[in-house]
Amino acid sequence: MGDRVLAEALAKKGIQDSRVLEAIARLDRAAFIPEALRHAATEDFPLAIGHGQTISQPYVVALMSQALGLRGSERVLEIGTGSGYQTAVLAQLCKEVYSVEIVPALARSASLLLKDLGFSNVFLREGDGGQGWPETAPFDVIIATAAPEAVPPRLLAQLQPGGVMVIPVGPQGGAQELLRITRSPEGLLPRVEHLLPVRFVPMTGEVQSLG
Ligand code: SAH
Repeated sequence: MGDRVLAEALAKKGIQDSRVLEAIARLDRAAFIPEALRHAATEDFPLAIGHGQTISQPYVVALMSQALGLRGSERVLEIGTGSGYQTAVLAQLCKEVYSVEIVPALARSASLLLKDLGFSNVFLREGDGGQGWPETAPFDVIIATAAPEAVPPRLLAQLQPGGVMVIPVGPQGGAQELLRITRSPEGLLPRVEHLLPVRFVPMTGEVQSLG
């Protein structure tokens, strides 16, 4: 099994990183989706995974993974494990993934599934990812799959100099932008690139109550 046809469709849509396409081709997206929606697993759409949350659109998963420029040696922090699908893509592209999920039931089911699939370089935690994972910081790469209204300073502080963060930012249900933020090695102002207009679920937790 595996989503080779989905990976081919993503290549046609402009995803060029062969490691990302290969990682997607090796997975079975249906395993990350509630049974009732599995027929749509290889369509390029986001789908509901319960608890008001969604599994991201494959194109967006691929684009975000590509934008991180992973080569295999990185330690990655992910905020918003959700179904665990993006986590499973990342785990094939880097050394270790540290992923935080705020909804306990999702954190539990993703943990079981990723263990079942045999990923041994994934570390999951239930909690508020807006706070990062201070005990294991700094990270080479940070990815958020839930949107805060602004980049949380605590996350930026846990990014290694020279590191890259990909994060959707903007108002809930409104015009959000997928940003790539590169922290300069000299600790000067980070470089910010706008990648794509997107629509993600809001990042809840402390960043929201501060918002
Ligand atoms: N990458 C996931 C996307 C899930 S949607 C997938 O492909 O399935 C975003 C997830 O972020 C949701 O599961 C939501 O519960 C979670 N989330 C929202 N705010 C969060 C926070 N502050 N800390 C950790 N997770 C959060």
